[in-house]
Amino acid sequence: ILIRDRTETEELRRELADARECLDDFRNGVSRMIKDLDQSERELDEAYGKLQETQAQLIQSVKLNALGELAAGVAHEVGQPLTVIKGLAQNLLRRLPTGGDDREKLELIVEASKKIEAIVSHLRVFTRSSGPEQVPLDVNSVVRDAFLMLGELMHKHGIEVKLDLNPVPAVMGSPTRLEQVIINLATNARDAMPEGGVLTITTKHRSEGGRGLVSIEVRDTGRGIPADDLKRIFDPFFTTKPAGKGTGLGLSISSRIIEEHRGTIRVESREGLGATFRITLPAAE
Ligand code: ADP
Repeated sequence: ILIRDRTETEELRRELADARECLDDFRNGVSRMIKDLDQSERELDEAYGKLQETQAQLIQSVKLNALGELAAGVAHEVGQPLTVIKGLAQNLLRRLPTGGDDREKLELIVEASKKIEAIVSHLRVFTRSSGPEQVPLDVNSVVRDAFLMLGELMHKHGIEVKLDLNPVPAVMGSPTRLEQVIINLATNARDAMPEGGVLTITTKHRSEGGRGLVSIEVRDTGRGIPADDLKRIFDPFFTTKPAGKGTGLGLSISSRIIEEHRGTIRVESREGLGATFRITLPAAE
């Protein structure tokens, strides 16, 4: 009996040891599974974050496309009646004697229609057409042409213009559209320097990965752009200017035009420390 007892105890002890080993294995298994689960959860979180980002980009591009279509439709529909309003008002103006209340009112109508006309012509850039034909051009002459018009305006606002135009290769583009971008940037610079300042335009040529790049930098010494606004200045209709002064379309149209030229437009600015807009365009092959 004694011997049997001992054997049984031995057996029990072995079984107990086996059970403990099983339990340890089980515990290790569970803790590995928890670790795996943690890892999967992290990966899931990451994937979810990326998904949300992609979704936001998609929404933004769908919004922009929808906006483009809407803008093109509005430009088309508004253009015609606007021409009639402006034409008739100008006609009546010519026939009315100088002075008088009615004349003043008609002048207001003509002014208001001109303002709408400017907005409508801006909106046309959003249409799907790929824009005017692109030709080889020298950005230095585009800048010079723009400042033939802008020079006087800047001078009147106490702004000194410095053109630092260096030899650059040709780029493919539309001179009038690029001039429009320069005019938009310079007008914004003027608005940012109500007390005057310096506006510097620098053109440069550089190579990157065997490709020629031409940059146009527009730098002002104005009030700069607060960090919160920096993310939004290229959005259509974002403006910090008083009603009637800004349409909020200048920069979104400029970035659209630069996109048409397969280029990029970036901004660097700190509140109170001026702003620099840098356009980079690929040199013509
Ligand atoms: P708008 O000039 O009609 O307001 P834009 O799209 O050209 O429209 O500009 C959007 C906004 O970006 C401006 O209202 C202004 O707040 C800011 N901004 C643009 N350029 C400058 C600049 N050079 N300095 C400071 N702020 C600027």
